[in-house]
Amino acid sequence: MRAMVLDTSKQPLQLRDVPKPRPGRGQLLVRVSTCAVCRTDLHVVDGELPNPKLPLILGHQIVGQVEEIGEEMWEGPERPDGRGAPTIAIGDRVGIPWLGWTDGDCAYCQSGRENLCDNGRFTGYTIDGGYAEFTVADARYCFHLPERYDDVEVAPLLCAGLIGYRSYRKTGDARRLGLYGFGNAASLIAQIAIYEGRELFAFTRPGDKATQQGAKELGAVWAGGSDEMPPEKLDAAIVFASVGPLVPAALRALAKGGVVVCGGIHMTDIPSFPYADLWEERVITSVANLTRRDCEEFFEIAPRIPVRTQTETFALEQANTALDLFRAGELSATAVLTIAE
Ligand SMILES: [Zn+2]
Ligand SMILES: [Zn+2]
Repeated sequence: MRAMVLDTSKQPLQLRDVPKPRPGRGQLLVRVSTCAVCRTDLHVVDGELPNPKLPLILGHQIVGQVEEIGEEMWEGPERPDGRGAPTIAIGDRVGIPWLGWTDGDCAYCQSGRENLCDNGRFTGYTIDGGYAEFTVADARYCFHLPERYDDVEVAPLLCAGLIGYRSYRKTGDARRLGLYGFGNAASLIAQIAIYEGRELFAFTRPGDKATQQGAKELGAVWAGGSDEMPPEKLDAAIVFASVGPLVPAALRALAKGGVVVCGGIHMTDIPSFPYADLWEERVITSVANLTRRDCEEFFEIAPRIPVRTQTETFALEQANTALDLFRAGELSATAVLTIAE
């Protein structure tokens, strides 16, 4: 099969003919239709995340068709995680997200926090992902996707949507919500926040009037540069940009008891700040990975709103172009690789 392979960090991906993977116990062989490009893919290519599998096939926002089911699927209630048997059949459309495997029995898995599993494996990072014609995935981490979305428009929901949603849920019932970095995840989460009646404050790169205008068109009550203070104090802020200095900036914009949620997997260093900015029970927290429950909740709510994605498609062999444009900030929508005929 054709695949775009990362041999070593800081090198372009190589288009290569590699053996088609075989599904093992409990796995699905999936013919990849689309795979959206995530900022995390850039962090992996740029060597900013430790110990990726190498060589590696990137991509963790995968949409495809089940072509084969590995032998010995878990069946019935004896599955270690206590969930029912998978209901996935050959020919089904499935989504494959970042969380690819957990052990099911560490202290985190046992307490409903499989996103923090001590032995978790991640699609397109520690296991091969979707920048290829086929991939294999653990059936327990594959999902049916809402029918109202086609394969291109649903792909960005599988990470920007899901991790964004997990970040958003950590803001509790905040009425005034700030989003720092108004890219893929923020523009999806903004739609849910507005649907749920939050007042949205969008922070972009200073001077990025076009993105500020886009945020207002989505329904933000205020949009400005990340160097500006909002007109009112915020109950919560999510920092989606991988820019550490935004954390104390967001903290200064908070009302008492407010929370800053860091939504990315990688961020530049956070500069020091006075304790007074944190005092009065302000909180800084982060979001790591996702759980299957996040998937279930998000894919229940997203089609009801409906959350709409903006996409720009690229052929598989154009993956380096998509990554380069992303890195340069020159994409105006989420890049999606279209792979199956
Ligand atoms: Zn675990
Ligand atoms: Zn991602």
